[in-house]
Amino acid sequence: MSILSATKRSRQTVLGYPVDIVDEPLALELIKSSWSARRRLQIITLNAEMVVAAQQDRELDRIIRHADLIIPDGAGVVWALKLTGHKVQRLAGIDLASATLSQAASCGSKVALIGAKAEVLEQAVVLLAKTHPGLNIVAYHHGYFSAADEEKVVSQVALAQPDLVLVAMGVPRQEYFIDRWQAAFSQCVVIGVGGSFDIWAGVSKRAPIVMRRLHLEWLYRMVSEPWRLKRIGSSLPNFGWQVVFESIFRGRGSETKAKNPDDKSV
Ligand code: UDP
Repeated sequence: MSILSATKRSRQTVLGYPVDIVDEPLALELIKSSWSARRRLQIITLNAEMVVAAQQDRELDRIIRHADLIIPDGAGVVWALKLTGHKVQRLAGIDLASATLSQAASCGSKVALIGAKAEVLEQAVVLLAKTHPGLNIVAYHHGYFSAADEEKVVSQVALAQPDLVLVAMGVPRQEYFIDRWQAAFSQCVVIGVGGSFDIWAGVSKRAPIVMRRLHLEWLYRMVSEPWRLKRIGSSLPNFGWQVVFESIFRGRGSETKAKNPDDKSV
């Protein structure tokens, strides 16, 4: 029996995509277990935008379906789960990543960061060391390397034998990257964390707490970063309609049937 199935985890689906009903403590427990067993744990932070993107991108679709742990990162995903009767709290990828860094600092686990602009990453490394005392960042590299340099970057990072690799290159670039280099990070916890390094470096801001509590972080991002308007503005209604359609026409309850969670490698 896998560690995940031995815990309180339940796997549901949103528009056919798997989502694990985990809160932060359970996710951290799974991460710690993976470190102890030196077992790979690939974490996807699923939101509505990603679901809609995956519906048009077979590669992203495959990667999401094969991830070890898929957390309910987006308010849309949480809403869709609630509509089908599943009690779930949103677990934002940036919050889990930050809590995982704290856990890494207390466990002495080694951390690698890949992504963002060089100066942003350097700033994030400095600030993370302050906000997470004891953090052992063994390798880091910015996210603007050429395809020809990719192998070299990965080898350098892998040589430092990290236990946790955070990749911040945006969706789906970071998911493709993580998937391509599975073998190099076969004993690591790997999380795609989008724009988290920019936030940790202080070059971009998260929505105020009150907006986060109201599940309006997406609105804040749309207003503060208007270039997102086109992408978010088209994918959210698309997602919303599909979820409503599914809940009306397929009824309640959408347990994963196609994949047996016990088959997961964790
Ligand atoms: N980025 C990168 N390499 C690239 C393109 C982007 O490292 O080739 C970084 C970018 O600097 C930023 C992050 O990826 O730090 C993307 O953040 P965003 O908030 O757009 O992520 P998403 O919305 O996809 O989660």
